[in-house]
Amino acid sequence: MLSVTNGTPPGPTCAAAPVETARLQWRVADGGDPARLLTDFLTRHGLPADDLSRTGPDRPHRPGTPCGAALLISAAAAARMAGAPAGPATPAPAVPDLVAVVYGHADGAALPSPPAHPADPHRAPAATPDGGAVMNPHDAAAADPHRAPPDSGSAGAPGAAARPPASGPAAADRGGSPGAIGDWALGPWRPSWTEEAHADAVRRVRREIARGAVYQVNVVGHASAAYRGDPLPALRRLAALPGARYGGLLTGPGWAVACASPETLVRVRAGRADTRPIKGTRPATAAGRRELLASAKERAEHVMIVDLARNDLSRVARTGTVRVDELFGIRRWCDLWQAESSVSATLRPGTGLADLLRALCPGGSVTGAPKLAALGVLADLEPVGRGPAMGAFGWFDGDGLDLGLTIRTAAADARRLHLWAGGGITWGSDPAAEVAEAAAKAAPLRAALAPPGPAAAVVSGRRRRPGEG
Ligand SMILES: [Zn+2]
Repeated sequence: MLSVTNGTPPGPTCAAAPVETARLQWRVADGGDPARLLTDFLTRHGLPADDLSRTGPDRPHRPGTPCGAALLISAAAAARMAGAPAGPATPAPAVPDLVAVVYGHADGAALPSPPAHPADPHRAPAATPDGGAVMNPHDAAAADPHRAPPDSGSAGAPGAAARPPASGPAAADRGGSPGAIGDWALGPWRPSWTEEAHADAVRRVRREIARGAVYQVNVVGHASAAYRGDPLPALRRLAALPGARYGGLLTGPGWAVACASPETLVRVRAGRADTRPIKGTRPATAAGRRELLASAKERAEHVMIVDLARNDLSRVARTGTVRVDELFGIRRWCDLWQAESSVSATLRPGTGLADLLRALCPGGSVTGAPKLAALGVLADLEPVGRGPAMGAFGWFDGDGLDLGLTIRTAAADARRLHLWAGGGITWGSDPAAEVAEAAAKAAPLRAALAPPGPAAAVVSGRRRRPGEG
């Protein structure tokens, strides 16, 4: 059992039962260049990460070849890729800053070998859309076959390296339905800053904007809660939240990360890369949708991030190929409407994964603009690091790359669950509304992690509407 969310294998087109064959785990303190390390590691294991402009569809999946790799990039690693400081220390140091897990096919061989025969019985007849049963039918993304989720989550692979963090009955639970309960108990959430400190950070960003240092800064808060029992079923529930285009779970020794992100940091298919920044949130009501569409402030903030994405992509694009394919589309995630755009470009020949990550990491929608200046402001503002949140999570194989931006992401270490949530701050931001918006984004995650039952209803109770003063 690899992809635990819905019991499908990690690769979007692979019907085999892939097995973990190699793993890279790196932390900022280890030193070195994470973009380079990752690219070299994947290439060494038979996955062509050194030139993404040549990625193409329909690579056969057969025994003796690598299937692909699940990737996790922390916010600190992403900042390092951008040439920025890693920021404050992570509150979940058990989780590595960079993880790549390579999967091979049934016979377990990791190294590429000549094809035994041209026909490939191993190949899946069609991708099974992961999450079909759990994605919200009202989510436009779910209805778009072009955006089938990448099945990027993978965990629980056999072997000590993939043991879950708790001593709970994870192995027995493997493959169980999301929502399976054991002896699961979750303590109160303890924020790393008070609502007042969060509001004060918003005020400080406004002062930086007034000084002309930045236009927009995305401020993120963190909270953690002690747990008892096996955290994996709770994390699976989170990964199965409606609208989680990057729903999945990845584990290692002493840690687990679950993602319910709807946001595409970067996808590469047939030599073309696209990024889909999300910025602008309202409650998923008819009024909320109208309000989001009508808000000049939200649109201005959003366009700022789209411009940043265009600029990022242009660093690896063939001249004249950067295109805005969609501007300010409205998508649903859980109880929220969100505004999303799509920017794409044809990659310059020779663009490696390292080049692409350096150009796009961290995603502009979680930094602000200009990116490096915003990262500098953030490093001084946020009380703790962002851990695996606000980085990237997804899948890479010879067909291409699909990385989600790790918003709506939780982590477990041996004792506690960790959550991060925030929002973009501009000159027009109201501190109390920003605090409420971060709470609204965290609420579905907290509800998913809580023991099922009456308590969950309390946790998921609606907060004040984002944007209200
Ligand atoms: Zn495969």
